[in-house]
Amino acid sequence: MTRNRWTVLIIEDEKTIGNYIEAILANKDYRTLRAADGVTGLSLYASHHPEVVLLDLGLPDMDGMEVLKKIREFSSVPVIVISARIQEREKVDALDGGADDYITKPFGAEELLARIRTALRHRLHMGQSGVQEPMYSRDGLVIDFSKRMVTLRGKAVHLTQIEYKLVSLLARNAGKVLTYDYILKEIWGPYADTDNQILRVNMANIRRKLESNPAEPHYMFTEIGVGYRMLE
Ligand code: CA
Repeated sequence: MTRNRWTVLIIEDEKTIGNYIEAILANKDYRTLRAADGVTGLSLYASHHPEVVLLDLGLPDMDGMEVLKKIREFSSVPVIVISARIQEREKVDALDGGADDYITKPFGAEELLARIRTALRHRLHMGQSGVQEPMYSRDGLVIDFSKRMVTLRGKAVHLTQIEYKLVSLLARNAGKVLTYDYILKEIWGPYADTDNQILRVNMANIRRKLESNPAEPHYMFTEIGVGYRMLE
């Protein structure tokens, strides 16, 4: 038996999808809890305190966004929204409403497991001690947060203040989608008169400095209509 059996709460009314998720997770030794509606989901959450919640947005008794809001009233547990709908607005709303990530149906086992691992890692990093990793290092790209230095395959990369802030914000949240609104607020402040255009321009400049092919980024991905995600 493995030592760490994380508990995942699945709030999903479609039986086949619930079974599918449960089978994937059981295979990796996760403990699972199932709820087919929002009320049951909330009560299971309150009684079992799972480490991750998978939340379908289209539930029979209440809107998934409502469930998310209720969970956020008392908990910062990672919530991954399962969306059948393809509207970008909904993904953005879910992320801005406190979801940690989303996954769109249909999805494969590997994608689901990767999202859960990311969510758990963020929970471990941020949750208990509040201590951050001192560095981001992936495929030759190194960001030293304490020295505020970025190197690519050993060579220093010169970034503007804003560019550095952007890269480090994404790197500190590597693997997780950050929405345009969230990034704008974090970098330029809540009252700044900015729009996505300034963000796009800065991202294009960063990609020219970091990516060997900016059109096919290796480090910083665009989630179309939603935001950006940095390679985990
Ligand atoms: Ca549903």
